[in-house]
Amino acid sequence: MSSFEQFTLEQKQQSFDELRDVKQLFASRSWFPGTSGNLSVRIGDFDPEQFYFAITASGKDKTVNTPEDFLFVDKHGQACEKTNLRPSAETLIHCEIYRLTGAGAIFHIHSVFNNVISEYFWDRKSVPVDGVELIKGLNNWEEEAHIEIPIVSNFADISKIVPEVTERLQPGVPGILLRKHGIYAWGANAFEAKRHIEAFEFIFEYVYRLELLKKGMS
Ligand SMILES: [Zn+2]
Repeated sequence: MSSFEQFTLEQKQQSFDELRDVKQLFASRSWFPGTSGNLSVRIGDFDPEQFYFAITASGKDKTVNTPEDFLFVDKHGQACEKTNLRPSAETLIHCEIYRLTGAGAIFHIHSVFNNVISEYFWDRKSVPVDGVELIKGLNNWEEEAHIEIPIVSNFADISKIVPEVTERLQPGVPGILLRKHGIYAWGANAFEAKRHIEAFEFIFEYVYRLELLKKGMS
């Protein structure tokens, strides 16, 4: 079993660099309103019993770069090094998604489209999507694919959300919506997680506009 001490300074810097690049890009798209949202990338090999990741610190303005933006935590969400920073309040959700999927990166954003869609489909607890080309962006190459994007409750106590994530995660769907809150999307690495979150956001806007059109016509 490996420990956090095995990682070199360069490896750690690379994790922070990856997060900084994604943070800047997403900030330019206004994907972190009111300091919301959080990003993480895993460092080293994955073992469900022992893994580590770099994550955004709690409550920071993600439109600027500072020396206090990121820290490393273990599989319990505890800081690995001496720091005054606190990991994002939603770190426990990252811990559970890593444990279940072995992903390499997890990104979480709040947008109007993902909020509206999560509320609109709350009764059925998932968003049905049929044959949209961007489903391929989620690594699903089936012709006219049908996917269901799960929606879980949004509790102030994050630890209460975790069991729903465990229960509702869909194989082949690298994302989960929190009701009236936002999307978590993940991938084997930062590149893939970014592609997935972009595909999800496109799909949410598509579904939103389609539903609106249908209502206008009925
Ligand atoms: Zn959030």
